[in-house]
Amino acid sequence: MGGARVSTPDAAATPAPLVDRFGRVHRDLRISLTDRCSLRCTYCMPAEGVPWLPGSTMLSTDELVRIAAVGVAQGITEIRLTGGEPLLRPDVVDVVRRMAALTGPGGSPEISLTTNALRLPALAAPLRDAGLARVNISIDTLDRERFAALTRRDRLHDTLAGIAAADSVGFSPIKLNAVAMRGVNDDELVDLVRFAVDRGYQMRFIEQMPLDAGHTWDRSAMVTQREVLDALRAAFTLTEVPGRGSAPAELWYVDGGPATVGVIASVTAPFCGSCDRVRLTADGQLRSCLFARTETDLRTLLREGADDDALAAAVRACITGKKPGHDIDDPSFLQPDRPMSAIGG
Ligand code: SAM
Ligand code: SF4
Repeated sequence: MGGARVSTPDAAATPAPLVDRFGRVHRDLRISLTDRCSLRCTYCMPAEGVPWLPGSTMLSTDELVRIAAVGVAQGITEIRLTGGEPLLRPDVVDVVRRMAALTGPGGSPEISLTTNALRLPALAAPLRDAGLARVNISIDTLDRERFAALTRRDRLHDTLAGIAAADSVGFSPIKLNAVAMRGVNDDELVDLVRFAVDRGYQMRFIEQMPLDAGHTWDRSAMVTQREVLDALRAAFTLTEVPGRGSAPAELWYVDGGPATVGVIASVTAPFCGSCDRVRLTADGQLRSCLFARTETDLRTLLREGADDDALAAAVRACITGKKPGHDIDDPSFLQPDRPMSAIGG
């Protein structure tokens, strides 16, 4: 691993944890590297006419690393790179290398990546060598035609090749994510678990959230955690894995383990009470929640010459303003203006 150590605070200068008004300590920074994507998943992006972020507003490599360094110095220990499709960013290997070399009171952050895997055959080895610890890969179906309909691109083969590439260079655990959708892939949940278990991966099902660009989300059409578990129990014995902590996925052993399957029930069993995540968009806006309706403009601060203390104060103010929960089920709930692809999932 290369790259210079960027900040090494001495013990006396160790900052207070990044704690909000509800006592939640924030350790996980999700960074969207781009809002661009090589797929057009129906639950995330429109088929056409995506209002892209202007290039001049996108953070440069140095700006991304600077904000990450401030976060790590304040207690961030995990950085997840996402998007849009993070592997479309030409500097992604450099970003990983430089972020993995940061240090803070919790040591160096663990760097992970959420991806559609299309570029993993070329990038898996360089990313691993740069210090990437883990990958989460999205695959909603194993059927080529469904994949093409769902992502509006005929690229199942490339996603499968990407998964194999991640495996062959030694990433472990490999987590596979699928959004469960009624009438789309809800008859494939068992097959997806078998696919994962047979290869030593972890399958995780995500409840669809109101984050699509078309604002078409419908609570009654959503496949719930209960429905996912009912479908899986028809084929497997599931035993709850204790000790979830702040992880979004609740886990079950499949047929006694060691394989596990997860469900991320953001809508029917929200885990806001133990949330330790904060998000940076590709254009430098810090969000305390996926569903936040306000953002903290770190890009302008950065470009106007703010020092690390000013940036750290802005990060803390954003976290202090975090709401107790996302209130998706509240009648007053308003979907955020940005779709998932522009926030960073
Ligand atoms: N392009 C990468 C990928 O697909 O893995 C990273 C970004 S994507 C926004 C991150 C995750 O968000 C994916 O697992 C995707 O399935 C999930 N996602 C996107 N829109 C969603 C929605 N409306 N509800 C639930 N999950 C969603
Ligand atoms: Fe792209 Fe990921 Fe959104 Fe699909 S879920 S459109 S792969 S950003």
